[in-house]
Amino acid sequence: MAELSDVITFLGTAGARFVVARQFLASGGAWLSLGGTQILFDPGPGCLVQTAKRKLDPTELDAIVLSHRHLDHSGDINIMIEAMTDGGTKKRGMVFVPADALNQDPVIFSYLQPYPQSIQVLTEGGAYVINDVSFTTPVRHKHPVETYGFIFQTPRHTFSWITDTRYFEDLADHYEGDLLVINVVRLNPGAPIDHLALPEARSIIEELRPKIAILTHFGMTMWRAKPWELAEKLSEETGISVIAARDGLKFDLAKLEG
Ligand SMILES: [Zn+2]
Repeated sequence: MAELSDVITFLGTAGARFVVARQFLASGGAWLSLGGTQILFDPGPGCLVQTAKRKLDPTELDAIVLSHRHLDHSGDINIMIEAMTDGGTKKRGMVFVPADALNQDPVIFSYLQPYPQSIQVLTEGGAYVINDVSFTTPVRHKHPVETYGFIFQTPRHTFSWITDTRYFEDLADHYEGDLLVINVVRLNPGAPIDHLALPEARSIIEELRPKIAILTHFGMTMWRAKPWELAEKLSEETGISVIAARDGLKFDLAKLEG
């Protein structure tokens, strides 16, 4: 029997409005292949196209997980639910979203809401199960809409994903894991936008000291500054292996054992 593996495929690495609107980088979130469990994470604009391009089959998805309702994360969630359920012909798959993605002005159209097997609402401190994968949403983020980050646990690995948020005091405390994925929209802190900037990501990485950290979700200032060079510099300065995600990157978590 083949060894089971945990692989994250970055369908896109664009963050925030401008890089997404112009598609300087692809958007569309990530595909988490965790043993036999397939999870789609934050299906932003272009997700359907990117999954087809990467030969990933939406009818094999076990779940779709949404961190928050902003368009750059949720743009393709409706079509991906339709794809997961084979055009609505098979009631299958789980969907996990914050409550405000379903309330008045829902990002999931009401006619699609009966398609999946279940829709579960994310809450602060919540714990969820998809086959033999579990995940928690330890803390509500500081972002204009209800937003959570995640710690995923597979039988083989633990990894956390710090999604969109303004920096706050004990943010890092919640996200221990062997691998940290972190959304870094801006190069410099200070603008009145509820997103992490690189120096804040750096202090989180230094505090958590994961085996590997992956930067993603780049806004314009990060993209212009060449994320792969920034990551290399961070690695040298912190002694922690920091990688910049790129569109289509397949990260095998077996690298954590290397
Ligand atoms: Zn956002």
